[in-house]
Amino acid sequence: MMRARDVVIVGAGVIGSSIAYHLSRVGADVALVDRDDVASGTSSACDGHVLSVDKEPGYDSHLARLSGFLLRNLVPDLPCDVQYHNWGSVLAVERDEDMQTAQRFVQRKSNDGTSVRIMDRGEMRADAPNLAPDLAGGVLCQSDSVVNPMALAFAFAQGARQHGAKLLPFTRVTDIDLQDGAVCGVSTDRGHIPTGTAVCAAGVWTADIIEKMGVDLPITPRKGHVLVAEQDRLPYWRNMLEFGYLMAKRGLERDVEPAMEKYGVAFVYERTASGNFLIGSSREFAGFDPQVDPDVIRLMARRAVRFFPCIADAHMIRSYTGFRPYTPDHRPIVSGVDGVPGLYIASGHEGNGISLAAATGHLVTDMLLGREPAVDMSPLSLARFTAG
Ligand SMILES: Cc1cc2nc3c(=O)[nH]c(=O)nc-3n(C[C@H](O)[C@H](O)[C@H](O)COP(=O)(O)OP(=O)(O)OC[C@H]3O[C@@H](n4cnc5c(N)ncnc54)[C@H](O)[C@@H]3O)c2cc1C
Repeated sequence: MMRARDVVIVGAGVIGSSIAYHLSRVGADVALVDRDDVASGTSSACDGHVLSVDKEPGYDSHLARLSGFLLRNLVPDLPCDVQYHNWGSVLAVERDEDMQTAQRFVQRKSNDGTSVRIMDRGEMRADAPNLAPDLAGGVLCQSDSVVNPMALAFAFAQGARQHGAKLLPFTRVTDIDLQDGAVCGVSTDRGHIPTGTAVCAAGVWTADIIEKMGVDLPITPRKGHVLVAEQDRLPYWRNMLEFGYLMAKRGLERDVEPAMEKYGVAFVYERTASGNFLIGSSREFAGFDPQVDPDVIRLMARRAVRFFPCIADAHMIRSYTGFRPYTPDHRPIVSGVDGVPGLYIASGHEGNGISLAAATGHLVTDMLLGREPAVDMSPLSLARFTAG
């Protein structure tokens, strides 16, 4: 048996680590438990965009802006460099006929307070001289930023430790234990940790842990591929996504070739602080198969060359896959569990976990301390799936 803790957090990805950081900063006695090491799941198999440009206007945009704001203010206090850069992001619009849709999108985003604006073809060319000359234009969001996602998870975990949290790597949680229906501890393969509060932040694996308790969790792995280019001349200084990425993310039909549609291929470009660049993206439901699929990689590379022809000459040094924790309405579950006092879930961030990590840590802390949460929590509740 290990020492009792106020809160045990299951999973030391970017979400669990952020929660540990936020809670320990306000004095909670926290254990952060991972079956592996910090950032050994999806948080080390992803990109590092911290975006609000790609979020639906309304609640999702508001949450992303809050998270971006919190992160920007946290960065100076974190114990290591997370390679945070506020380079801004651009949604590239491929065809002239899509510019009207882009204009409407900008209007809706502006109405809800996101600072975005249209860049016409000329301005895009001036900002990104390597861009294919026939592209119609873009949407600029200057407040968007980028981090090294692994470094962010490590910085949160390390910061939590400095505030007194106990890190327990290589410790697999086997059960969340109940007494009279309420949480009384967490069982691991290295012993039992008594606690009245458990936060399950195990990403795509949260469902396995929670389902043992008879709670059905609609979180499914949505596989994605990433290509890494060697350090060379960068095609562009900001980060870029194609406008159609918004549709690929929501699983909506796009006017692209069938294979790209099938694998949800949409161009994403990330400039990293180390001078490499990353190319995404793909989306598919393929269970937990981590294999890199060369066909998907070829499609992603072809899509990248459509936007930046110079990428055809770039050397790719590796590729990897990760599992986005998908929920049917594309929002995470950050919530208590009705009928199980002391049990909380913070998972299901799909392709937004890096962007929403700071807000999630903040909101879970609000919930556990009984503070008025910074946003309405009902759109993030588990009850939205279980009620009725
Ligand atoms: C290709 C790709 C690109 C992406 N790009 C972006 C992006 O640019 N911006 C963005 O915002 N988001 C992005 N995402 C999404 C983001 O990576 C995820 O939403 C985020 O990493 C999820 O973090 P997490 O902490 O919930 O899960 P994870 O990082 O998976 O952490 C869960 C942890 O739980 C641990 N665990 C599991 N089971 C147990 C157990 N039984 N006991 C103890 N520990 C356990 C695991 O070892 C793991 O460390 C991308 C994802 C992918 C796949």
